[in-house]
Amino acid sequence: MFYLLIILLQMKLIKQITDLNKALNDQKKIGFVPTMGNLHKGHQALIKISQKKCKKTLVTIFVNPTQFNNKNDYKTYPKSINSDLKILKKLKVDYVYLPTVNQVFVDKKLPKITLNKSQKILCAKFREGHFEAVLDVLNRFVKLISPKSIFMGKKDYQQFFLVKNFIEKNYKTKVYGCKTIRDSNMIALSSRNNLLNKTSLNTLGLVTNRLINLKKAIYKNRLKSKKIIHIIQKDLVKKFKIKVEYLECRNTVDLSTDINSKSFKLFIAYYLNNVRLIDNF
Ligand code: AMP
Repeated sequence: MFYLLIILLQMKLIKQITDLNKALNDQKKIGFVPTMGNLHKGHQALIKISQKKCKKTLVTIFVNPTQFNNKNDYKTYPKSINSDLKILKKLKVDYVYLPTVNQVFVDKKLPKITLNKSQKILCAKFREGHFEAVLDVLNRFVKLISPKSIFMGKKDYQQFFLVKNFIEKNYKTKVYGCKTIRDSNMIALSSRNNLLNKTSLNTLGLVTNRLINLKKAIYKNRLKSKKIIHIIQKDLVKKFKIKVEYLECRNTVDLSTDINSKSFKLFIAYYLNNVRLIDNF
């Protein structure tokens, strides 16, 4: 009981901007972990890295409606605020900010953020306006919080890449990419996995392992990457009844398709049982 009381005292749950401003008044070395909640071990890993590197850690839970280009996807996005708060308390997070939509978008005069043509690749090609909205909301959070560092997952590599470029160009804040946390079947942890039944989760494991092997094959023979990908993609669609949006190799430096001299990743987005999943290897 006494132990629980100490944990409760340690975490500040903030719902109003005025309280956020008060709480952060003197804090100069905040580590910031933005999330949409439904927290899993991937989120927890980011929080632990922030806690190691920064004096104080602030986590936001905000399901941003403007970044969903599909209304149903927004409506069905998994929510579990009570268990999220339990996890955050156990981790002894310093601040948790749970803003409302109106609070986040209170400043209507901010300039509109756009992507250039070379950035409209991978998810940006299929989710119109998605990253513009992600950048907009992070811009708003950084203005409010002035974090020293932001910690993001490389599971969403394109998001991490765009946010790092945008935030580090406009602020003193550093953006760190953290490795993807996977389960024992190599499935990348994701809140969306909660929308899958047991059979689909099993398929997800099989698809993931095929993609890990595909990456190894491409690594050995980069020059034939397009041909190898084409064959495997057709096979995955036929065997596992998935709908692939893209399956592409891009380098990790500028996300261009030049993979011959640089380190690269294999990127995929696909629908499994109507749930959109992304990963990279
Ligand atoms: P989300 O709540 O899905 O918006 O994710 C919040 C942050 O957690 C983002 O920076 C994600 O990239 C990161 N994240 C999500 N899944 C994982 C994972 N399996 N491993 C590491 N980071 C992750």
